[in-house]
Amino acid sequence: MSKVYFIKHHLLQNLRKTLAENLKKKFKKGDVVVIKPHMGEYGNLAYVRPPIVGLVVEELKKIGVKPFISETLTLYSGGRDSVEKSYETARKNGFTEETMGCSIIISDESIKKKSKFFKNGIDIAKKPYDADGMVIISHFKGHDLATFGGAIKNIGMGFVPKSGKKTLHIDTQAEINQSKCIGCGICKDICFGKAISIKNKKAVINYDNCFGCCNCVDFCSQKAIKEKTTSLANGLGEVCSFFVDKFRNKSLYVNVMLDITSMCDCCPLGSTDMGKIVSPNVGIAVSDDIVAIDKASFDLVQKASNGRFAKIIKSNPLKQIDAGLKFELGSDNYEIVEIN
Ligand code: SF4
Ligand code: SF4
Repeated sequence: MSKVYFIKHHLLQNLRKTLAENLKKKFKKGDVVVIKPHMGEYGNLAYVRPPIVGLVVEELKKIGVKPFISETLTLYSGGRDSVEKSYETARKNGFTEETMGCSIIISDESIKKKSKFFKNGIDIAKKPYDADGMVIISHFKGHDLATFGGAIKNIGMGFVPKSGKKTLHIDTQAEINQSKCIGCGICKDICFGKAISIKNKKAVINYDNCFGCCNCVDFCSQKAIKEKTTSLANGLGEVCSFFVDKFRNKSLYVNVMLDITSMCDCCPLGSTDMGKIVSPNVGIAVSDDIVAIDKASFDLVQKASNGRFAKIIKSNPLKQIDAGLKFELGSDNYEIVEIN
């Protein structure tokens, strides 16, 4: 059974204590360790606050580790789709080398990995892959495409460059078997991208708007929709497997369950769902098992929100956990250890 440390009160003090105990079991002096937070879109106020990330940097440096923060570029247009804009957005959100106490490397430099699903393979981020270990700091919240955002999503999408994100969003698009479709329109209603329309009583996908989430697949009672290659969740799971396998005994995950919004930290200033809180604050979880921490976070948030969290998810909420188990990233059998 995997241990998930759970901090409910005195968050920074208890996080420091938990990190001090766990980081030294994973890393040694001289290790180069990548830290992956989500530094937020400009105007988003729910991303993990700089003092939490800075505390991880401090604790790593205490044991002689050389940490750096790393991030890739977004596929969507916004404040993080170029290196220059990303550094500027990070700066405005409070993340600079001065405030963090370590270097911040925003890069789309990539290496190609063979994929079980994508015939041309998938590009993953080179800078984090070249490290000796990783600490993944994730804001746990809802996510329209991936169901929720936790550690699996943070690596699965965050450690791939634009080219890999294209693979995850385009090669995973759904397709409709028109002969089975009865034109009920359920898929149209649940599609976040507004990619589906009903024409001549049959569903049709506009691929310019399809993000490849495959949530529509789960909702069709006629089994008329299928994945072209695989689901986004499986793609995220596969990307995670490259990093988890490389850093098997040299990784630690921190899930921050504060400001739990329905949507991702990519939502910018002015977006309609930005800041829509769907659960009371829960606390911070720490584990060396990526599946256990995401499952425990989901369960804790479900409990705190009286089940509301799963209701905002337009699909099987545990798709990513299933993918994590398929790729043997960890276990969904966990024990909560409360830190007081
Ligand atoms: S849910 Fe299935 S049957 Fe209904 S419109 Fe969509 S594809 Fe057709
Ligand atoms: S895969 Fe996702 S974005 Fe594409 S049509 Fe289905 S629900 Fe819409």
